[in-house]
Amino acid sequence: MKTIIFAAVISVFSATALAKAPIGIVIHGGAGTISRDSMNPAQEQAYHAMLAHAVNQGYKVLERGGNSLDAVTAAVTVLEDSPLFNAGKGAVYTFDESHELDASIMDGRNRAAGAVAGVTNVKNPILLARAVMEKSVHVMLAGKGAEQFAKEQQLELVDNNYFNTEFRYEALKRAKQAIAPQPHQAALPYDPAWKMGTVGAVAIDRNGNLAAATSTGGMTAKRYGRIGDAPVIGAGNFADQQCAVSATGHGEFFIRYQVASDICARVKYQQKSAQAAATEVLAELKAVGGDGGVIVVDSKGQLSWVFNTEGMYRARKTEGGEVLSEIFASSH
Ligand code: ASP
Repeated sequence: MKTIIFAAVISVFSATALAKAPIGIVIHGGAGTISRDSMNPAQEQAYHAMLAHAVNQGYKVLERGGNSLDAVTAAVTVLEDSPLFNAGKGAVYTFDESHELDASIMDGRNRAAGAVAGVTNVKNPILLARAVMEKSVHVMLAGKGAEQFAKEQQLELVDNNYFNTEFRYEALKRAKQAIAPQPHQAALPYDPAWKMGTVGAVAIDRNGNLAAATSTGGMTAKRYGRIGDAPVIGAGNFADQQCAVSATGHGEFFIRYQVASDICARVKYQQKSAQAAATEVLAELKAVGGDGGVIVVDSKGQLSWVFNTEGMYRARKTEGGEVLSEIFASSH
């Protein structure tokens, strides 16, 4: 039964028939316990509208000849500005009732990468990750130093309470009740119903170049400066010339199993499609207790999403096609 459900949530969109490199973008807004029962039609509609808006913003960049890096940046910035997703404006609360954001970006052309962890006052962490990649000699900056760099780069800064939302605060209260018996543990108990999430985008441009971007508020009630997989290159985000991946899910597993780079390694060394590789890796992850999902693109322009949870907010657009957005395991 599990296998059947798992197989049902895989979709592949091939654009290989086009002569030039096919352009395309796929985005996600997090995976988890997302069921029809937990959402009313108006909420569902709001998610679809925002997913479509974000994927269109990214696609427009590709359509006018822009590169995949700019496309994923544009899409993720839109998702960060929406309160609906756990990234930027809609970031979850830490145990101490504030917000600490993680993000990363990678350029498949040359494996340039930038990442930030635990930032508290940067409106769009993905723009800071990109600045780290392009304007510093480093790959990952964290905390106060990252914030100082953001200021020097003249990125938009906000008070931490800009990220406050009632909906996420309620989730924190529920999480605290659940972990009350062991308040001092460093390891987070994992309950997908607390609605974690993350946002991400992967894209292929007219020159066949790939890029990946991922941004998150992390996990509700995280503490002790916990950093998830989103800013860890190779775990929650990865891109090379054959394959790009953005992930969402229980970050500790994605770090330990190096999910994003494992998928791309199977593409590179085993000549698998990114979709086939992602399907294998997510099934292996499920077997050891790791919940989540990924979006992937390969150099043939094949865009896919694979997840082992009940749902994942997701959308894609390929050349000549309409935007397709989905939330639940099956669109029917
Ligand atoms: N991967 C994120 C983290 O562990 C959370 C999520 O995607 O649900 O920080």
